[in-house]
Amino acid sequence: MALQRPKGTQDHLPDGSPKLSRDVQASAFAYVQDTARRVLERAGAQFIATPLFEEAELVRRGVGGSTDIVRKEMFTVYYFGDHGGYVLRPEGTAGIVRAYLQNGLKQLPAPLKLWTHGPMFRAENVQKGRLRQFHQVDYEALGSADPLVDAEAIWLMWEVVRELGLTGVRVKLGSIGDPADREAYNAYLRDCFTPHAARLSDDSRDRLTRNPMRILDSKSAGDQALIGELQVKPMLDFLGEAARAHFAAVQAYLRAWNVPFDIDPAIVRGLDYYRRTAWELHHQGVGAKSALGGGGRYDGLSTQLGGPEVPGIGWAFGIERLLLALEAEGVTFPEASGPLLFLAALDEEHVARAAGLALEGRRVARVEFAYRALKPANAFKEAERRRARYAGLLGSEEAARGVLTIKHLASGEQQEVPLAALNTFLAERAL
Ligand code: AMP
Repeated sequence: MALQRPKGTQDHLPDGSPKLSRDVQASAFAYVQDTARRVLERAGAQFIATPLFEEAELVRRGVGGSTDIVRKEMFTVYYFGDHGGYVLRPEGTAGIVRAYLQNGLKQLPAPLKLWTHGPMFRAENVQKGRLRQFHQVDYEALGSADPLVDAEAIWLMWEVVRELGLTGVRVKLGSIGDPADREAYNAYLRDCFTPHAARLSDDSRDRLTRNPMRILDSKSAGDQALIGELQVKPMLDFLGEAARAHFAAVQAYLRAWNVPFDIDPAIVRGLDYYRRTAWELHHQGVGAKSALGGGGRYDGLSTQLGGPEVPGIGWAFGIERLLLALEAEGVTFPEASGPLLFLAALDEEHVARAAGLALEGRRVARVEFAYRALKPANAFKEAERRRARYAGLLGSEEAARGVLTIKHLASGEQQEVPLAALNTFLAERAL
């Protein structure tokens, strides 16, 4: 058997590929990316790209040493049998904040809105919507702690979803407070769980000392049962006055803009640098436990990476999950269209001339040509297979009169176009 791609990865394939059910249609992927780009650029977000691999230390500090991502899911980069302490990036935020600090982007007007898209890598258990190489669209707004920036970030996610044509999306909104609020909450959680430590999973017993909030995030059914039994109070009950006011302001903006959301007290991001607003977008087609995307405010991240205080907020969509949601809702999108013109010579003598006309035509539109002389019926068939709008023929008769025979394939209408006027003909019909 020929070699296969690694587990948990996908190929992005051209339209019409026979094995599309198991892979990604590149044009669908591009549709999601282009939609996000349109929405984000209209909001003043500028594109940024950072390396696919970074110092392991950056990811450890940026994602958190107690997370599953850092503890179990890192891809280490080896070269010449050695490794330089690099890992493939599991998410985009740490790299972007590093680039912001390293390149002095603090000098640009705040909030600085940045966006990117690209592959992320996590060595996860592979299942539907859970891959080892997946792709995110990321948005980050740096340099402002204003709740209006939070609300705008959430609105942008909602707008991407709306522009994609998805209807079954729910926004779950929460707040994880300020550091002092979380300290109080963690103390409360320790009191709750310590008498029942023996019933916790090994991971959660470990979290009890390191970071009790992460117990609430546990995937273990036993842990979740215990949380229910103990009627553990939510983080929202522990918000201080400042965080409470911030949370209320975010909600008021979203209501004013008619962005529907549910308050979800279960949203926890147990990392030290997360502050206040946290949210997730969910969709039934992706599975109850898996989010389409999520985001949060991370005012403490910059100092965690050794920089000065820089408030920030960001989100990420999983593109593969957006594709699952689009598929579940049966949303159709324009497939990549064919060429405007497919040009064929009717005898070998005119192949070079026809190709030359096509090359020139490409200055105004997408034009393809036949590499061999074709009979008219075959030229039309080929043009249709490529989903061209027009087929053009150049034989001795046309060449003698300095024209092309051009057929509009949908209507069957035929006309002659002077060779010198071909680009005008194309320009008038190009989008
Ligand atoms: P996170 O960085 O964990 O908050 O993830 C943000 C989004 O990325 C999630 O909501 C998913 O849509 C997507 N995502 C995260 N991990 C995976 C994965 N292993 N496979 C596919 N998508 C993922």
